[in-house]
Amino acid sequence: MSEAIKLFQYNTLSALMAGLYGGTLTIGELLEHGDLGIGTLDSIDGELIILDGKAYQAIGSNGKPEIVEVSDDVKVPYAAVVPHQAEVIFKQRFEMTDAELKKRIESYYDGVNLFRSIKIKGTFSNMHVRMIPKSAPNTKFAEVATRQPEYTREDVMGTIVGIWTPKMFHGVSVAGYHLHFISDDLTFGGHVMDFVISEGVVEVGPVDQLDQRFPVQDRKYLFAKFNMDELKEDIKKSE
Ligand SMILES: [Zn+2]
Repeated sequence: MSEAIKLFQYNTLSALMAGLYGGTLTIGELLEHGDLGIGTLDSIDGELIILDGKAYQAIGSNGKPEIVEVSDDVKVPYAAVVPHQAEVIFKQRFEMTDAELKKRIESYYDGVNLFRSIKIKGTFSNMHVRMIPKSAPNTKFAEVATRQPEYTREDVMGTIVGIWTPKMFHGVSVAGYHLHFISDDLTFGGHVMDFVISEGVVEVGPVDQLDQRFPVQDRKYLFAKFNMDELKEDIKKSE
């Protein structure tokens, strides 16, 4: 049997939702565990995109989106990466909405109880993204989420990366798709809201194991009191 593919997840969505925004793991360490993934940066300063082993940050600055490459010493409060290996590859030759494409992707899944890595490279006739704005700790995520800048671009070439999470792991991360986009020319990207693909290549990768890490030296995490009912509501509102 080939080596097990591990999804490396640092911290949990619930911790992020509860306002623990301080970065505690460096990008350098994160990249040792995978070459494709998503996350956010210290002080939830924008969206993290890991593509082909490189880390990028999508931020909304002065009313327009911007992509910057992130150096190894920058810290993240939440991220998930995987050594992506395409198991299913298919060509999407005609226009489809994200809902239609997701259905097609899911037709290749073996059941619904395993994580998957997702990579979609192509041309998008429409791409709608948002970026979480940098925020002070303890500002409630659901509140921050109400003032996220959103951007749309038409006829953009680029790549969607992300993770599909089974329902039973909701809270650890978001159940279903968590996708981030980055344009080929590195001028546009963010957390994917919806899109229309013109054509492209879709890759779905397997995940055999979940390597769930915790910020074991972060006192804020250690002694945080999570209100589970409130968290569930907040995730519903924000994601
Ligand atoms: Zn995101």
